[in-house]
Amino acid sequence: MKVLYILGTQRGGTTIVGRVLGLVPGAVYAGEVRRLWEFGVGPDRTCGCGELLVDCPVWSVVLRRVRAAGIDPASVSAWQEEVVPVEGSWRTSRAMRRPHDGHLSFTGYAGAMAATYHGLAEAYGVDVVIDNSKLPADGAFLAHVTGVEASYVHVVRDARGVVASQLRRRSPSSPARRSLDATMLAASWVMRHTRSEQFDPEHLLRVRYEDFVADPSATMAGVCRLLGLPQVELASGPFQLPAVHTPRGPNPALTTMLIEDMSWKNELSRFERGLIGTLTAPWLVRHGYLKRNR
Ligand SMILES: [Zn+2]
Repeated sequence: MKVLYILGTQRGGTTIVGRVLGLVPGAVYAGEVRRLWEFGVGPDRTCGCGELLVDCPVWSVVLRRVRAAGIDPASVSAWQEEVVPVEGSWRTSRAMRRPHDGHLSFTGYAGAMAATYHGLAEAYGVDVVIDNSKLPADGAFLAHVTGVEASYVHVVRDARGVVASQLRRRSPSSPARRSLDATMLAASWVMRHTRSEQFDPEHLLRVRYEDFVADPSATMAGVCRLLGLPQVELASGPFQLPAVHTPRGPNPALTTMLIEDMSWKNELSRFERGLIGTLTAPWLVRHGYLKRNR
């Protein structure tokens, strides 16, 4: 089976890209798969569909697969935290590519992820699982997951749009505090994309969110080529999207229009646009958002 792993940032357009790519026949968009383990699989835990995990038609299959592999699902969260922690994504992605030393947490997590992906493929009846987990270390870890062939879609969105969207979700604060937050968020945008740029380009498609919104068919065509699947004709929007059993949070809407979110142009002050643009300038130039100064 194949996993199409999406690399990118929060608020970077990865969800809409992933959900539309889930329209490729034989593929399914499975949400941020690692979150199943990130939040633990206690008996009260529910899926976005509202059912308890043990009753959900998708996650019940995954949990059965994990147990059949001789793994106690209760152990997996701690392994994930040790092997591919969210906070350690920057540090660990290089280490992930080196052969491991057989630690139980490493082999255990690799076994759990193999069972997770194969369970998702079985439950949805597909051969390709699209995982929107976004973390470079997590994506690189797929090299150690048996029976899974990994490809990557790296979604880039203008740092000014990403940071504005991330600031929007925070409580209002003073201009000084906002500038500090914007600086930290811009730095984290840079780190995430720098790591994501290090994957083997032979197995990766890089997509600008803005280009995807303007012409999703081109991205679909690129992904079909990457996965070795027949080309798909994409009807024009609004798109009817399949249901997702999100490992956490409510299930997303089933219909969507592709409209580029340009609200950052009004939300950011001139100073903030300049600050974020300066901090991320080499990457904005590389991805075609800024012209190089002559
Ligand atoms: Zn469900």
